[in-house]
Amino acid sequence: FQRLSSGLKRSSDNLTSSISAIFTKRKLDDQTLQDLEDTLIAADLGIDTAMAITDKLRAEKFDKDVSTDDVRAILAAEVENVLGPVAVPLSIPIATTPFVILMVGVNGSGKTTTIGKLTARFKAEGKSVLLAAGDTFRAAAVEQLQVWGQRNDVEVLTRPTGADASGLAFDAVAKAQETGTDIVIIDTAGRLQNRAELMDELEKIIRVIKKRDASAPHATLLTLDATTGQNALNQVEIFGQKAGVTGLVMTKLDGTARGGILVAIAKKFGLPIHYIGVGESIGDLEPFRADEFARAIAG
Ligand code: GDP
Repeated sequence: FQRLSSGLKRSSDNLTSSISAIFTKRKLDDQTLQDLEDTLIAADLGIDTAMAITDKLRAEKFDKDVSTDDVRAILAAEVENVLGPVAVPLSIPIATTPFVILMVGVNGSGKTTTIGKLTARFKAEGKSVLLAAGDTFRAAAVEQLQVWGQRNDVEVLTRPTGADASGLAFDAVAKAQETGTDIVIIDTAGRLQNRAELMDELEKIIRVIKKRDASAPHATLLTLDATTGQNALNQVEIFGQKAGVTGLVMTKLDGTARGGILVAIAKKFGLPIHYIGVGESIGDLEPFRADEFARAIAG
């Protein structure tokens, strides 16, 4: 919680200082409620949640003195309300071996780093892991995954630059089946410049994996960079349907002023949020918890 709380300090400082500025020596009236709503929307929380908070405050406190603490308490409660249902751990049934995870997300969103962090978690739980460097377009991406593979002491399957990623994904699933490996994590390209091509490639990877295991991928995780704010919403829309995203990992929640976007995404899409990234190191991935996030963002 300490990491998350200090990570979200910029988000919560922004919010609480704006809230304090609104509620100095003022009784709750239409103007203060409007100012509060604007502040919450500017903090990327989303219109629905902003309105739910101001409605609740109006119902409880209209024409009465309101302290910043009152507002923060209502803010935290509403955020927890929204996040509770989506704070779902990634469940990996023992019977599903190999459990195939497809990682999707735009370049720079923290996909490769998250794969490295996830691998460390799985290994700590005693599971064996195989990685597939499916971003065959970028040599640097392959090398980066290999570094994470070495760090975690797990094998990384690669293909030459430009090779077909779906063939690699197929081989990875086959190899894990043959060797009894518990988990396969497949990295993918994230070139949003050519959206149609990218989506075709993802669909093809999924199609081809299914030839080896009809129930795979068992999880398709989308990494979202919290610092991109509203862009993250678009990315869920873009990847959500075509790639069949089953859950989210929100990265870079350390030091961002835009952490509120997680609430807007939860409200709009209702997709499970499994993990959050709170730094660049191998241990900086935490299971997502609604109450902690709510407390951290409300300051
Ligand atoms: P990819 O292109 O989606 O594979 O993204 P990378 O995994 O290469 O990450 C892009 C950059 O973001 C790298 O410099 C990572 O170290 C950094 N990064 C990833 N996750 C986090 C995080 O949770 N917090 C911070 N501060 N940086 C992160």
